Amino acid sequence: MGNMETLVWNSKEQTQGRVRLDDKRVINGSADVNQLVPIKYGWAWEKYIAGCANHWMPQEIGMGRDLALWKDPNGLTEDERRVIKRNLGFFTTADSLAANNIVLGTYRHITAPECRQYLLRQAFEEAIHTHAYQYIVESLGLDEGEIFNAYNEIPSIRAKDEFLIPFIETLTDPAFQTGTTENDQKILKSLIVFACLMEGLFFYVGFVQILALGRQNKMMGAAEQYQYILRDESMHCNFGIDLINQIKMENPNLWTPQLVHELEGLFRKAVELEYAYAEDTMPRGILGLNAGQFKEYLRFIANRRAEQIGLQVLYEGATNPFPWMSEMLDLKKEVAFFERRPTEYQSGGALSWD
Ligand code: FE
Repeated sequence: MGNMETLVWNSKEQTQGRVRLDDKRVINGSADVNQLVPIKYGWAWEKYIAGCANHWMPQEIGMGRDLALWKDPNGLTEDERRVIKRNLGFFTTADSLAANNIVLGTYRHITAPECRQYLLRQAFEEAIHTHAYQYIVESLGLDEGEIFNAYNEIPSIRAKDEFLIPFIETLTDPAFQTGTTENDQKILKSLIVFACLMEGLFFYVGFVQILALGRQNKMMGAAEQYQYILRDESMHCNFGIDLINQIKMENPNLWTPQLVHELEGLFRKAVELEYAYAEDTMPRGILGLNAGQFKEYLRFIANRRAEQIGLQVLYEGATNPFPWMSEMLDLKKEVAFFERRPTEYQSGGALSWD
């Protein structure tokens, strides 16, 4: 009899708190954030699975040939060395900024657990990227202080980070809460700056530079790591864009003409800053690349990011001067290119207990 009573009580009272899809929202949701299922945002869950399938670690990639080339006085030009050092100077701290932004900021404002699940994976990938840059710096025997402090010492790097910092601070401010139109617009703006302009634009001059070296059989260990990082980052950017569009759909009141106007200004400013960085890292042009091509490339990417979140094209007629960059996202081609066998995480996950 006692058991029966418990069952009746369970069916009536204990179901309180079960998650209903209607209560799940990307921001300001009322469903329990600890209950992953039922899944409402399949695109976030799929990206979490895909991110895990793409797992890699920096130390799996040998740096011997890179070091030999770096030590050879005739191996690289002074301009190529400058590109490599400035490039690492930006990236060594950029992924720490990205990790802080996720862990100390974005994560606590996102109320969909499947999106949080992806953010946890993304945060670990940012750690792997910082590890990769540290591994390259260490392998080449570069001056660690110079590279890791470049964001304080090199104005073109400093300027990019200063552009981002107010948007990071919005989300990481312990007093900041969503739930008003003004604050929900602030979080949306920060997410857009981060996905479209930081991960989606500020990383791309650097990716092109190192991957262009790899295409000329130079610094191939570093280039291979950048290729994995590019694949991860393009997923981060796509997740961010899905997140932004979902928030827009759930909160159509946020997308005001004033916000659109402000975003267009931010996009143009970011293109300017990234172009200044391109000019500073390669003042004379190397590897068949020049700053003018980067201007066109940045306009092309900015247009794509704008369209992806529903803004108008900002630079009419911009084309892609580096069509090979899209091939770099297809790792099968890339691995053939760098003549290395990829580590098969997708099938090699089983543990042996012998
Ligand atoms: Fe990232």
